[in-house]
Amino acid sequence: MKNRFPFEESKVLQLIIASSSDPVLITDSETKIVYVNHAWERLTGYTSKEVLGKMTRLLKSNRTPKNVYKKMWGTLLQNKPFTSEKLVDKKKNGVEYQIRSSIYPVLKNDQPLYYIQLQKDITKEKKLEELRKEFTSATAHELKTPITVLKLLTQSHLNKAKKQGSDVVNTHELELIDTELERLIQLINDMSDSARLETGKQFLTFEKFNLVEVMHRTVQKMQIYATSHHIVLDELPSNVQVLGDSKRIEQVLLNLLTNAVKYSPADTSIFVSLNTQHNKAIVSVQDQGIGIPKSKQKIIFDKYYQVKSKSKVGFGLGLYISKEIIKRHKGKIWVTSQKGKGSSFYFSLPVVS
Ligand code: ADP
Repeated sequence: MKNRFPFEESKVLQLIIASSSDPVLITDSETKIVYVNHAWERLTGYTSKEVLGKMTRLLKSNRTPKNVYKKMWGTLLQNKPFTSEKLVDKKKNGVEYQIRSSIYPVLKNDQPLYYIQLQKDITKEKKLEELRKEFTSATAHELKTPITVLKLLTQSHLNKAKKQGSDVVNTHELELIDTELERLIQLINDMSDSARLETGKQFLTFEKFNLVEVMHRTVQKMQIYATSHHIVLDELPSNVQVLGDSKRIEQVLLNLLTNAVKYSPADTSIFVSLNTQHNKAIVSVQDQGIGIPKSKQKIIFDKYYQVKSKSKVGFGLGLYISKEIIKRHKGKIWVTSQKGKGSSFYFSLPVVS
């Protein structure tokens, strides 16, 4: 069998595909290999002679999830092209490699004659991504202990200074250190949560709990820190049961309240309420702050995204983590806002009886 283009196309196109630096593989409708280019030979270690006429199952590593193939054939059998983010195949020497693959059916009278696979070797890309996740997770973990010790020591000195009536400057400096350490702890917690979300490590513990209690508890906590703002809690029902991780839901509400405080002027009010409709509980946090332009309202939930501001007050991870937590509770999180006129953040959770 010759490694030749199986169908009539211009010589130029054949040349382009043969010399492409990305791997190309063509099979017939039964997935028998009929053509591979040089880049594909280089990637897999096979020569064209060794694979022509063989079925593509020769390349399978058994590490691509079954549902990827199911989706792939579901699409291809409708004569539509398919793109997969990640397929894991096996080289001639048994080493696995990861590809992003786009497969195009070539049709004749509505029947597939060939499938053209344009591939991209993403093994290095994925390895780097893994390393980055591990690095973030390990760094956050290593930073936690020394910073917690520093925080405890500072608080102990601060308490002593206050009791002994040390000079005002000393106390004020200790308070500044304490605030900055608190910010650092928050950043490290966000980094560690984000890494855990990415690596798919156990993140939530589900149980039935009363959302109203969590709201009261969180608002009380926030009131202690945010003395600059008035937090107004709406009249709440006594019991709204939801299934989820109460600590993580508290984290979401705390994050929305912290943002409401960060992005609105002192002495303004922040309104917190809870409504139930169609078996859903909807919590809202409304501020009278700087607002968010319409064009940014979706992307603020993306990782590391921050609307440009003069004061860098965070990492851009809070809303991303909140969105991921709510998503894992089968709920939704969204915002309505007008620039300069305040923002209202909402999240919904399914109510259970
Ligand atoms: P961070 O606050 O650490 O920057 P977040 O993920 O919590 O990260 O928020 C992302 C961005 O969304 C913020 O940088 C800010 O620009 C915008 N934002 C969030 N909450 C509000 C709010 N209540 N009012 C105005 N802007 C907000």
